[in-house]
Order: sequence, then structure tokens, then C-alpha cells
Amino acid sequence: MKKIAAAVLFFTGSLGTVLGQQDSVMLDNIYRVSFEQGKAYENLHYLTKHIGNRIAGSEKAEQAVTWSKSLMDAMAFDKVYLQDVDVPYWDRGAPEVAYLQRTKEPLQVLALGGSVATAKGGLTAEVLEVELLSELRQHGDAVRGKIVFVNKPWDESMVETGVAYGLNSSQRSRGPAEAAKLGAVAYLFRSLSSSIADDYPHTGGTRYVAGIDSIPAIAISAVSAQKLSAALKEDAHSQVFLQNTSAWKGSVKTHNLIAEWRGSEHPDEIITIGGHIDSWDVGEGAHDNGTGTMGTLDAIRTLMALGYKPKHTIRLVFYMNEENGVHGAVKYGESAKARSEKMVAAIESDAGGFAPRGFDIKASAAAVAWIQQQWKPLFEQKFWVSRFLQGSPGVDSGVWGEHFPRTVMFNFRPDPHRYFDIHHTAKDVFEAVDRRELQSGVAALASLLYLVDQQVDQIKQ
Ligand SMILES: [Zn+2]
Repeated sequence: MKKIAAAVLFFTGSLGTVLGQQDSVMLDNIYRVSFEQGKAYENLHYLTKHIGNRIAGSEKAEQAVTWSKSLMDAMAFDKVYLQDVDVPYWDRGAPEVAYLQRTKEPLQVLALGGSVATAKGGLTAEVLEVELLSELRQHGDAVRGKIVFVNKPWDESMVETGVAYGLNSSQRSRGPAEAAKLGAVAYLFRSLSSSIADDYPHTGGTRYVAGIDSIPAIAISAVSAQKLSAALKEDAHSQVFLQNTSAWKGSVKTHNLIAEWRGSEHPDEIITIGGHIDSWDVGEGAHDNGTGTMGTLDAIRTLMALGYKPKHTIRLVFYMNEENGVHGAVKYGESAKARSEKMVAAIESDAGGFAPRGFDIKASAAAVAWIQQQWKPLFEQKFWVSRFLQGSPGVDSGVWGEHFPRTVMFNFRPDPHRYFDIHHTAKDVFEAVDRRELQSGVAALASLLYLVDQQVDQIKQ
């Protein structure tokens, strides 16, 4: 390819233009093959409908690994293997029950991941509502014996929903310990939903602190939160009944799934691409993160279908346990470090399967500026992919990347508007994913993977 480019350069006088044209043709081909031959959607259908949700440590999570491995085994990878990972297994138990004690009006709730159970038969207590955990202290002794209810509405004006989520997610993780410190008997947290009209509770991780009582930690839907808040305005002594039976069930041996496509020029230099295979235990784990796993797999399948030969080794990783522990990414990073591997770049998909908008990039400002100049125009006009900004990597890459601070990392960014309407809920099902949007994302991922493989030397930190 280089020789041809040099010959044409003699006539055109511009190597950059010629390479840009070759890349542009390649991207056209990638998009065509992705839409015409893509299998991400049908694979997602199998994962969501035949396996379903798959919390780390569950049989279904392991089933998802075994089935995904069979997909990879049938492709032209040089090596497909499992990496042992031990994960703590949390089980939700029976469906949660919550209602306003006086009227028996039901409240839509889900235990937060990691929550302990209420006492057998549930608990009934008065409720103390605050918007911010920081307000709790000023209530002093009034917290004792109460259910602390953190009711912070989502900031709908933020189009960047990931930032809106981040503004409030620490209240989910820190809340139970903060409330327990002051003698609360349970923690009720308004779901991190981007829609105020949402009556689905959203689960998500929380944590306890050694030495502080572990109290039940439960998410309440946005609509039920408004209902409860209204009841408290009417009667400040309103009581709520809560019951959940969730528990930690010890450690389970499970796996990361890894497939390698060997590089023809730099086989010891690795480009990692992938996402987490586990999901929360509600819905079907479709957008989070069936689209990320089936999408990255399909991006590689697209390049293989085009007869592409990678220069660097492309390593597809399906991480286990991103949702409630990140043990898979920790293990991946430690093993890679122990082998002193050369991790030149990483791509992660874990923000849903909506229409692709671009990538956040963990790289030097100069490298990002170069990408904006050289790669962005290839995506922007035809494919509506235009976000190439300096930013944070995905959760899994971020964790293993601590051992590899110089690795350039790309975090796939689909349209963010509706992701947090369905994130970690019973609504995250196959039907919430659109085939065209998903395959467009596959094409964007395959295009980026191709460009990184071809030109990573230009953006190395
Ligand atoms: Zn995820």
C-alpha cells in the first residue's frame, strides 16, 4: 500500500490526500458491509432473548461467555481463550415490595446492587426526605430510626446525560453508609433516570463501609419518588413499608473472554477492543452492554469480511463484572502488566447502541488535534460521526489502563439522549435497540479500529 501511495505521490504531490482517499474508500466499504452483512443485531437477539440478563457470578453470565466464545471460535481469530476471574456474586432474591403504609399505594422499587436484605417480613418506618446527602447532618438525631430518602431530580437541561448521571451517582454509592452513620434503618434513593416521567426503578452499584451498619439500599422510580414526596408534604410522619431479600452469595469462578487476531507487522503490539459481557439482573442487558459486546465483535467481523490484514494484534476482550466490582478488568490489567505487554491502543463500547456520535479520547491534546484534523472529516459528512474530543476512557479500560498510562484510549459515544431512560432497568431489552443505529455504530467502531491499526504511530503518547 505504501509503494503505491509513493508512486501516486509523484504525480499528485500530496501523500496525505492519497492516503486520505484510500481511507475514505475503506470507510465506505466498512459501512456498506456493516449494513449489508452485519450480524450484531441477530447476535444481540440471541444474547438478550435466549440468555437474558446476566449478573456476574450467575449461570447466565457464564452461559453468555460460552456462547460468545462459540461465535468467536467460528471466526478467523488466531486464538480464543478464557481468562479466570473470581467475582463476588450478589443475588436479588424475591421481588421487592414497597408501599405507603397509610394508603397501601405501591411504590416502584429495586434493591441497589450489593444491598443487604430488610429483616424478614420487611420494615416500616417514617421517612426523612433530603435532596443531598450533605443535608443529612443538619437533621442530627431526627435521622435515627428513619428511612433516609434522597430525592434529587435529574437535571434535564444537560444533553450530556453521562455528566448528569455522574453528578448524582456518588449519592447512590455513598448514601447507605452516610445514612447508617446517623442511625437510619434504610436508604431510599431516587433512581438515576433522565426522564421525570419514568416509573421504572433503576438499579446500580452501592457500597458499605467497614465499621458502619449495613442498611437496605433501595432505588425508587422517579414517578414514585414524586408520589412519596407529595405524601410527605401532606403528612411529614408518613410511613413506608419496604421488603427485600437480596444477599451476597460468596465468590464464584468465572471468566473474561478474549480473542486475538494476530498482527502481520507488529504482532507484539496490541490494540484492545471490547466491552463488558455481564449486565445487571433486570431487563435483558441489551444497551448495557449487549450492544457493546456484540457490536465490537461485529466490527472485527466486518474487517475480516473485507479481507483486511491487521498490522498490530487486535485483541477482543469481553470483560466480566463491570457492573458490580470490575474484577474482570482488574484481572486483565494485572495479567497484561505481568507479561509486560505492549498496549498501544484500546477501544471500549459501553455507552449503549444508539446512533453513533463519536469517541472520547484519552490521549495528548496534540494527538487529539491530529485526529480531529485527519480522521474526523472521514466520518463527519457521510456518517454523521463528529465527536472526537479529549476525554475519559470507558470504565474497564480505565481500570486496567492504570497499569498502562501511555496507552491511547477511545471511548465509543453513541447519542446520549435516551440511554439513561433505560439504563439498569427492566426496559433495557432487545426491542429498545434499532438495527440501523446499531450497525452504524459497528461501522464507526470498525472504521476507527482500521484507522488506529494503520496510523497509531501518529497518535502514540
Ligand atoms: Zn455498562
